[in-house]
Amino acid sequence: MIITIHRGINQIGGCITEIASASGTKILIDLGHNLPEGENRDNDPLDKIENIDPILDGVSAVFYTHSHGDHVGFEAVIDKKGIPQYIGRLSKKLLQLQRGNILYYHPTPELRASKKAIDNFTTYEANKPIKICDITITPYYVSHSAPDAYMFVVECDGRTVLHTGDFREHGYRGKGLKPTIQKYIVPRNIDVLVIEGTMLGRDDSRMISEATLYEELTELMRKYKYVFVMCTSQDADRISSINHAVATVGGRRMLVDGYQYKVLEAFEKELGQGNFLCYQYKRKHYFRKNWSNVLDKDCKRGFAMLVRNNCNFRKALDEMMPLLDKEQCCLVYSQFKGYITPKHSAFMQNTYDFIHTFDWHFMYLHTSGHASRETLEMVCKNVKPKMAIIPIHREARSDFRELNLSEELKNKVITQSTSIEDIKIVVK
Ligand SMILES: [Zn+2]
Repeated sequence: MIITIHRGINQIGGCITEIASASGTKILIDLGHNLPEGENRDNDPLDKIENIDPILDGVSAVFYTHSHGDHVGFEAVIDKKGIPQYIGRLSKKLLQLQRGNILYYHPTPELRASKKAIDNFTTYEANKPIKICDITITPYYVSHSAPDAYMFVVECDGRTVLHTGDFREHGYRGKGLKPTIQKYIVPRNIDVLVIEGTMLGRDDSRMISEATLYEELTELMRKYKYVFVMCTSQDADRISSINHAVATVGGRRMLVDGYQYKVLEAFEKELGQGNFLCYQYKRKHYFRKNWSNVLDKDCKRGFAMLVRNNCNFRKALDEMMPLLDKEQCCLVYSQFKGYITPKHSAFMQNTYDFIHTFDWHFMYLHTSGHASRETLEMVCKNVKPKMAIIPIHREARSDFRELNLSEELKNKVITQSTSIEDIKIVVK
């Protein structure tokens, strides 16, 4: 078996992992864009076809852990080469909605090709193995800020690899992580653990749970009648917290636009069943243009409104804000703080300007979609890989050996190319 980390050993986002069997079958796990630095989305060397061609050479399938843009991004190129692409069913639906929405405003040939490629994606299901020649891949559900995320157990040549993708232990389904590992992963006797380490390099002392975030949101909604929330449209847990807070305060609605409404319907259909009624967004309300009507009829007692930084929302807010009492308005920014922190490498002037457009009260309220140090330790200790721990999706200066692990496990941390018995590890 050969494990190649094409990208991700020393960066967050844009991770590409290849697993090849001795007979030459090759699969890729995730192939997305580098995370944007500021507003510059064009800094990805893989945007040049001559750089992506060698990575795709001889690949039999691409498996995506979830739908975030740093994991899925080159679907049209891959589709054109006839390489099958696999993803979870809800992730496929969310990508179709997202690409379809952009296509509506920007009908370019590139976006059409992207949409067509996503329509061709094959979907996998949790706990159901898929065979690609002599490689078997089994997805297991994990909690993340994307609602349909998986880790993979990959088996070939009598060896097993666990690739975690992005994950966390909180969120409304995060508690399932440890039982899943103990029930399904431990018995597989994992040889190599490929694990994300996003939070290792971020000193986020305030890593609150999604449930605590709900409580803080509720308090805020008691204080302000009109609460605008800027969060990722496809973060099912965050929107559940907002919807739940709206319901707790009572008499209010959660205003959403047409795109967001369709996304929520997809969450309800795929996630909001059985014990997970938190994914039924009962307070959602599709707002239409006539604001005085909305305010007098539907939202007399206030609202929470999901907003995004685009011209439609700017126009809507320009019309609506003069009708509201500013003292009762609050904007909650519920995304990565780096985007709105001047001098941070991820700073986005456009987003910064948007949140400062109006004279509303401002509040930062967010929690990460990634595993805390304690969760990373729990996974390493429980999985106890026999041969290697390969940390990816992490800052270059972070060190897995700083975690509270046994010396035996620390000695298995690998960040450079090496061979262990019959497993070759290539780090690019
Ligand atoms: Zn992600």
